[in-house]
Amino acid sequence: MPQGVLAFTEQVDGEFKKISFEAVSTAKQIAEKIGGPAMAAVMGSGVGAIADQTAAYGAQRILVADNDALQDGLVDAFVQAAAQLVEKADPAAVVIGASAMGKDIAARLSARLSAPLAMDCVDVRVDGDQIVATRPMYGGKVLADVSLAGTPAIVAIRPRSMDTVADPGAGEVETVDIELTATALSLVDKQMETGKIELTEADVVVTGGRGMGSDDFSVVEALAKALDGAVGASRSAVDEGWRPVSDQVGQTGKVVTPNLYVACGVSGAIQHLAGMASSRVVVAINKDPEAPIFSKCDFGIVADLFDAVPAMTAEVEKLKG
Ligand code: FAD
Repeated sequence: MPQGVLAFTEQVDGEFKKISFEAVSTAKQIAEKIGGPAMAAVMGSGVGAIADQTAAYGAQRILVADNDALQDGLVDAFVQAAAQLVEKADPAAVVIGASAMGKDIAARLSARLSAPLAMDCVDVRVDGDQIVATRPMYGGKVLADVSLAGTPAIVAIRPRSMDTVADPGAGEVETVDIELTATALSLVDKQMETGKIELTEADVVVTGGRGMGSDDFSVVEALAKALDGAVGASRSAVDEGWRPVSDQVGQTGKVVTPNLYVACGVSGAIQHLAGMASSRVVVAINKDPEAPIFSKCDFGIVADLFDAVPAMTAEVEKLKG
């Protein structure tokens, strides 16, 4: 009989991404209601050394799949490992971060296990013996409550939507021998962006749109740096070739949930809002007072961004002393 909740973690170069602890905390919260242990799954190459960190967030059982074949980050190898960890843990539910990698694994795992999946959830609760997940639909215009029938119920949680709750305990680490067969994918090239704050994990995002007028994002970069934030871009800015696709916020880009989102020269198209509407505080700077973004922000500044943004940066620097 499946029991407990298994949270999948994500790490890069031996360091857990924040979403990992959000997933473990969510698993603990669900496990307390449905019964059974809160478990953490740690997959990768050389990850044994960091696995016990998940105990600080309530993982009572920690399953480790440490295998050199997981070094290249190939999703089909990870899915094989994930399926074997699910088989070992036999959980009633699985929680995984809806990061780019997490979404990929969740969808494939769901197909492989014929298990129900709710993607990109912003809330999860237990109603009777059912797991009910809340997920935005139609570009964030409505929130749908979906209940998952079948086991394991897989919920992929949107980064920064669920709280990380410190809940230290003595997690028991188990190394699981996994078998990986040859995969259809092979790594051709790997390019790492170093020293860059990951958009989906950032506390502050400063985004530039077509109003930037060129690939010179220095004013936006300076404000992001002053606020210890990440730089985002609208699709128009990406389509112009001013920023890489990895910076794109929106329906076909990344979904961000920072405490502060500063939109500079962004009109506020529905597809852009789909990626940032759940930000806690939104500041918009646009020289057009009729720009739609002004109906979706907490603070609106009608100004030329090249005047307003450097002035904001100077104020932030002054406050920081
Ligand atoms: P614009 O709409 O051109 O707005 C530029 C704004 O800058 C204007 O409001 C203007 O007043 C202001 N401005 C100009 N100069 C200045 C200045 N000096 N100071 C201050 N303000 C200034 N878009 C996304 O962003 N992300 C997505 O993921 C996405 N996915 C899409 C998916 C589909 C299927 C489709 C059809 C579209 C998608 N789009 C997406 C595109 C979206 O519809 C908009 O075209 C896009 O968001 C507009 O980008 P923008 O606001 O930067 O540009």
